[in-house]
Amino acid sequence: MEKGLISVDRWAEGSQAYFLTHLHADHTQGLSTAWSGGPLFCSRLSAKLLPFKFPGFDLSLLRVLDVGAWHSLSLLSPSSASETQVRVMPVDAHHCPGSVMYLFSGGFGSLLYTGDFRWEMTSEKANRSRDMLVKALNGSRVNTLYLDNTYCNPSYSFPSRRDAAQQVVDIIASHPEHHVIIGIDTLGKEDLLVHIARVLKIKIWVWPERLQTMHILGFDEIFTTKTSLARVRAVPRYSFTLDTLEGLNKMHPTIGIMPSGLPWASKPLDRNENFFDSLARSYYNKKANEVASKEERLHPEIYTVPYSDHSCFMELHEFVQLVQPINIRGIVSSSSCYIDPLCYFGRCSGVYETFQRVQHKGKERGKEHVRVVRAESSVKVNGLIDSTRKGRKCGTVQVSGGYMSRVSMSRRRRRGAKIMEDIYAD
Ligand SMILES: [Zn+2]
Repeated sequence: MEKGLISVDRWAEGSQAYFLTHLHADHTQGLSTAWSGGPLFCSRLSAKLLPFKFPGFDLSLLRVLDVGAWHSLSLLSPSSASETQVRVMPVDAHHCPGSVMYLFSGGFGSLLYTGDFRWEMTSEKANRSRDMLVKALNGSRVNTLYLDNTYCNPSYSFPSRRDAAQQVVDIIASHPEHHVIIGIDTLGKEDLLVHIARVLKIKIWVWPERLQTMHILGFDEIFTTKTSLARVRAVPRYSFTLDTLEGLNKMHPTIGIMPSGLPWASKPLDRNENFFDSLARSYYNKKANEVASKEERLHPEIYTVPYSDHSCFMELHEFVQLVQPINIRGIVSSSSCYIDPLCYFGRCSGVYETFQRVQHKGKERGKEHVRVVRAESSVKVNGLIDSTRKGRKCGTVQVSGGYMSRVSMSRRRRRGAKIMEDIYAD
């Protein structure tokens, strides 16, 4: 696929079609109310939530894609001016409301961009996604897999969200006189909160903007903004600090619960540092393969529960085996726990060999060059399956891999990719 054609979760000028996997902030950096880069493709639910996150956004740019259906984009190659087709199918990513992965197919072969995803094969919904992918791939391998490598290390092992949710319920139930705060994002973990509310038959406090989101998602009865009605409060992750917890404890005994796939813990350096960043920093300070005690606690009143909306290592492994990629790239661009998926999955299904070849080329020339299909320009979605492949021409383009190499103390500041490279299409 040629430079300037498609971007996923990247919003700089220069692409013809923009794809949004989900609305978490690290996937929307650069997107704003005033953004007008081009047609923005997303799931139906993301299209519903987007105007709430970006009030005044030009809705005429939105292109809704139905999950599980092929959509055909007509594109024009700038070099040959010939029309070519790219097909795309969104598949539920089971990460947060509206989240999808994208399977692209065209003269370049196939490309699968997972975005953030949880691949729980114990869940019926995830099994539906599995069937969808198997059917869409129809026995072929994915040429390039862009993988959510957040927990791409064998030391990351955690239970299903259902089991982790029960752990949260048990902690709350064993503290009947305590108030409870749970750190969450502006989107996601709804199933956890709903589970708590239903099992314990309680209402849960959320902040006013979060209540609006809950209403958009159709949760009308469970959540409230009245503190007097709820001893369990879901608070923004950024406010989940030692100061907040100690302040609350001065008024009423309060415990904090952090749902996170990061099992390691250390005390925050700063009283205002949120506990989620402490977890990430702690992991970074320990080496990736160092075994840490899961009983380690940040604070006597803090419970960390391995509830994760990202896949654990075994799930990633299962996923890679399913789609049999020829090449893999991690989508986490700057992370305290960044690990190139090739470290672990490189030898799966011949990926390693291809990677070595690409790396070798990069070393030789200072830039990576690969053979791709040229395709660019105006985009339209027909919403129909179109199996025609034309305009296939191979050329040479520059790979934009630089953004993925930086390691930062903060977790996942930005993700996304301008799809301007591909592995060997032949
Ligand atoms: Zn996310």
